[in-house]
Amino acid sequence: MRYVIYARKSTEEDDRQVLSIEAQLTELKEFAAKEKLEIVASLDEAKTAKEPGRIVFGEMVSFLEKGKADGIICWHPDRLARNSVDGGKIIHLVDRGVIKSMKFPCFWFEPTPQGLFMLQIAFGQSKYFVDNLRENVKRGLRQKIRNGIWPSKAPMGYLNNPKTRGIDVDQDKAPKLREFFEQYATGQHTLFSLRQWSIQNNLLSRSEAQIQLSQISKTLRNVFYIGLMKYSGEIHEGKQEPIISKKLFDRVQEILLEKGKPHKYKKHHFTFLGLMKCSCGAAITAEYKRKKSGKEYVYYRCTRKKGPCEELFLRDNILFTQIKEYLQKISLSDVELEKVFFDLEAEYTKDTSTHTANIQNLKNELAKIETTLEKLLDVFLAGVLSTGEYTERKQKILTRKLELKEKIKDIEEKGMNWLGLAKDFVLSLNKANKLLETNNQTEMTPFLKNIGSHHLLQNRQLVFSWQPPYNLAAESGRPFDISSIVHAGGFEPSTLSV
Ligand SMILES: [Zn+2]
Repeated sequence: MRYVIYARKSTEEDDRQVLSIEAQLTELKEFAAKEKLEIVASLDEAKTAKEPGRIVFGEMVSFLEKGKADGIICWHPDRLARNSVDGGKIIHLVDRGVIKSMKFPCFWFEPTPQGLFMLQIAFGQSKYFVDNLRENVKRGLRQKIRNGIWPSKAPMGYLNNPKTRGIDVDQDKAPKLREFFEQYATGQHTLFSLRQWSIQNNLLSRSEAQIQLSQISKTLRNVFYIGLMKYSGEIHEGKQEPIISKKLFDRVQEILLEKGKPHKYKKHHFTFLGLMKCSCGAAITAEYKRKKSGKEYVYYRCTRKKGPCEELFLRDNILFTQIKEYLQKISLSDVELEKVFFDLEAEYTKDTSTHTANIQNLKNELAKIETTLEKLLDVFLAGVLSTGEYTERKQKILTRKLELKEKIKDIEEKGMNWLGLAKDFVLSLNKANKLLETNNQTEMTPFLKNIGSHHLLQNRQLVFSWQPPYNLAAESGRPFDISSIVHAGGFEPSTLSV
């Protein structure tokens, strides 16, 4: 059995709810692939079927009469004919055996007297229009998804554009939302404290209300923010501009997973708790001790969870002195900051290194991937692949595509923005200076955890491990040779690889 596909949509008002011709064709091809139907021709026209005399319809009829095809695949009988003349033609062709089969994804038909009777009604009745509205709307959503457009209300950080019917970045909320992800990525937040943060920073939901706790984790898990869409369990590529990078998103997923595991809650909040471990590998705990004089101190000591331990406790004021000494090593004053900024800017102006070639290579691969995706769809439509295989392969290719896009963005951003990164680094050195000046203890622990890791308590000493490039700053003499730190620190574009 050979089939001809026929799709139609008129520009008339009452046809607005009908699928576009493009959507009809896609649906019909997928339908044919699923049903393993052979297609010999695909015809479409943008004319109303209320009046007889459509050109393409006439072509289809003569195509069938000549015996080049013996069946029709069409979205619904109302696409085929909506006037008695054309309807009668079709019925007559069925009667004569010229049309041996007709397939409609949303209308059941078989060439029996009852079937023909139903068909005749379908041809004449606009009632079917209404009946199929619901199904059509659903298919319309799927077509939107296929085109990479979210068919529903945009999530927080995006806006529905009523004019283009697309999704725009909410310029107001997107930066805050990015910060929201970054905050969580520090690992310092619970969902609860992240909600507090959102409220303090006035990050409001789509309906301009405070974010609910349940929305926090939903937002953190939403792939929409990296340019994908999850619709009925399947991941699709979206046309919306990503708000956050895949790297950041992946980091957040890791933390969500970690925090999802059960853990004990802390009874007290001690300022420097969580900053360091004992040299034996066990965690450090803190407790209050009252002296005979009535004065109260905080002691940090080994929990001895990993067996006996020789390490002694450390009193908080001594620890605080040691912390300040470390901060002093990287502290940059406001005056120095100004000079460093000036030097960096001068260097940036000189720097002419471009990454055009790298970017071009990546873009070439990207273009190849597009072709692969198209081919994959063709293969799928031809019925060679099962839906499962198709989805799996498509997902793999989409992941690679995302990676490439990210790399291009990386080079473009770092190539152009190393100055920004270097400035951020320098600013953090200045922040050490500010923390010292204000004696802000509560902000010190998160700051110290950002600029180093695996700090230890050993011989009543805090043994600090700098995170590069902070080690360079700590080891550098005064005044800072910021230029060489920046070069060694991985900020400049030449350290970027493809
Ligand atoms: Zn210990």
